[in-house]
Amino acid sequence: MPDKPTPGGGNSSGEIAIEVRDVVKRYRTPGRGEVHALDNVSVRVERGQVLGVVGESGCGKSTLARLLTRLERPDSGSVEILGRRIDLAKRRELRELRRVIQLVFQDPYASLDPRQRIGTALAEVLTVHRLPSGTARVGELLETVGLSPATADRYPHQLSGGQRQRIGIARALAVDPQVLVLDEPVSALDVSVRAEIINLLARLRTELGLTFVFISHDLGMVRHLADQVAVMYLGKIVEYGPWDAVSDTPGHPYTRALQAAVPIADPRLDAPPADLVVTGEVPDAANPPSGCRFHPRCPLVEDRCRSVEPLMLPESGWHRLACHVTSSEATAEGTDR
Ligand code: ADP
Ligand code: MG
Repeated sequence: MPDKPTPGGGNSSGEIAIEVRDVVKRYRTPGRGEVHALDNVSVRVERGQVLGVVGESGCGKSTLARLLTRLERPDSGSVEILGRRIDLAKRRELRELRRVIQLVFQDPYASLDPRQRIGTALAEVLTVHRLPSGTARVGELLETVGLSPATADRYPHQLSGGQRQRIGIARALAVDPQVLVLDEPVSALDVSVRAEIINLLARLRTELGLTFVFISHDLGMVRHLADQVAVMYLGKIVEYGPWDAVSDTPGHPYTRALQAAVPIADPRLDAPPADLVVTGEVPDAANPPSGCRFHPRCPLVEDRCRSVEPLMLPESGWHRLACHVTSSEATAEGTDR
């Protein structure tokens, strides 16, 4: 199938850590109608690789994170983690898979009990998974994320935002997982602290051989980690490929706009050119636009974009994108050559 991703390169081992096929997830909400949170989303991540998932708020990133970790199940399609169907797993297998894949949230504070010392919180996670939960193991976990074992005696409010996110990561690492889904892990942090956490993640990835799904609304934030990137818009992947290909030759007007918005400290750069400027708000996913969902905001919009939905078509290698105007395949078809 031409729309199936076939990634490779980077730290890849050839073994598939994550295989999401044609996943659909809708939410029926009173008053708002049916929200198309994910529409035919497919991704494949080899073991040891980092997939960056990027797009504006509301495009379905957290929904994907919840399906990957089985906090929710898809309406259709499949989710495989290291070859096992987590979307279908029953109790025992699910318990095993919950040790294989872990989710790290944007705000670990929200899931920490303010009255509980950090050491107690970490020991609790270990106990739930029937793992050794003594002081030594808790201290080891804290050191893994760059904190002193003495942090175990602290309460959440005594920690900085960066330290709390380290605790969030330590908690995920407690079960010795192989895959981490990181849902905007640095979005709430100060810029200087962001770099520290990204560096920590880069180190952990190498030392522990982890596979990451790194979610961000900001394309620039994933550049330090991602081997491949999926750009999402209103529940769909609109461009997908190796990081270098997507960042060097972004094809979808939405990707180009996201990239133009990446702050670049170069005074010679003026405002982005008009064909990169995307205006307006993201439409409601309960009522997605016809044709290409991006067309009402697209600077390159043509007639067919309003009525015909573009397919994901290959550019080069497995880099692919869905755009009537910029896709080389779509253009070739349209120009009668
Ligand atoms: P993102 O993480 O990219 O901001 P989400 O996955 O959180 O996006 O949301 C995608 C869409 O699904 C949004 O329109 C959101 O309002 C909707 N949505 C997410 N979760 C629910 C839910 N539990 N009930 C109803 N709508 C939801
Ligand atoms: Mg989200």
